[in-house]
Amino acid sequence: NSRVTGLIKRKDELGLLGHSFNTMAERISGLLTNQQRLIRDISHELRSPLARAQLALGLTERTGTLQQIPRISQELERLDSMLDELLTYSKLDAGQYQLNKTAVNLNELMQELTELNQVEADAKQQQINILTSGPLSLIADQRLLGRAIENVLRNAIKYSPQGGEIRCQLQQQPGRVLLQICDQGPGIANDKLQAIFEPFYRVSDSRDNQSGGTGLGLAIVAQIIRQHGGSVSAANRSEGGLCISLQLPLN
Ligand code: ADP
Repeated sequence: NSRVTGLIKRKDELGLLGHSFNTMAERISGLLTNQQRLIRDISHELRSPLARAQLALGLTERTGTLQQIPRISQELERLDSMLDELLTYSKLDAGQYQLNKTAVNLNELMQELTELNQVEADAKQQQINILTSGPLSLIADQRLLGRAIENVLRNAIKYSPQGGEIRCQLQQQPGRVLLQICDQGPGIANDKLQAIFEPFYRVSDSRDNQSGGTGLGLAIVAQIIRQHGGSVSAANRSEGGLCISLQLPLN
């Protein structure tokens, strides 16, 4: 009996030790600078598709069949688009992106982006509704702003259920324009609402997840909006779903 009690004690001690290691790892990770963390994350992210392509290549070599070729090409495409996003992000981050500002009709831009993504929404029988208080235009880089809005819209489609409604609301407020895209998806834990705008942050943290995202989408959105002197935020709706708000100053 005393041996059993002793073993149980050891087990508890090991459990405590494990817990301390975890806390320590969290603390050490907390000590990394943003830049160090970013480099760590980039390495992880780029390695996954590369490792999978290598694996598929190895299989091709061993089996002598071409079965793995589409897989290899898919992984390389993913690597390519990740590098592309990374480049965009770092250029924006360094302020090296020359904004090409013109008068942008927001209503038209929103309509255009909705039409561009209609196929994906239709495939899930989702309805994209645009609500607007009237004609709205501002001075902005149309291509970049479109990219920011599209990233948010695509997430809304991706995370919303079959048959859901995606509501895009355009409002003019004193000195600014507020653009909100709300969905009926799972939302985000309240303590993570800020984190989703950080590069490579993913809620499910499985690095090789199959959602096809790079974790850079919203980081790019935040950079684009900040370069325009605006701000971004996220909030959960009381009835479920997420709202992403983009605020832009009226010049
Ligand atoms: P990804 O390209 O991986 O989707 P994002 O930067 O676009 O990366 O988003 C970061 C994370 O925020 C996603 O992994 C997802 O977990 C979460 N997220 C983004 N948009 C939504 C949304 N509309 N509903 C729920 N979760 C979302």
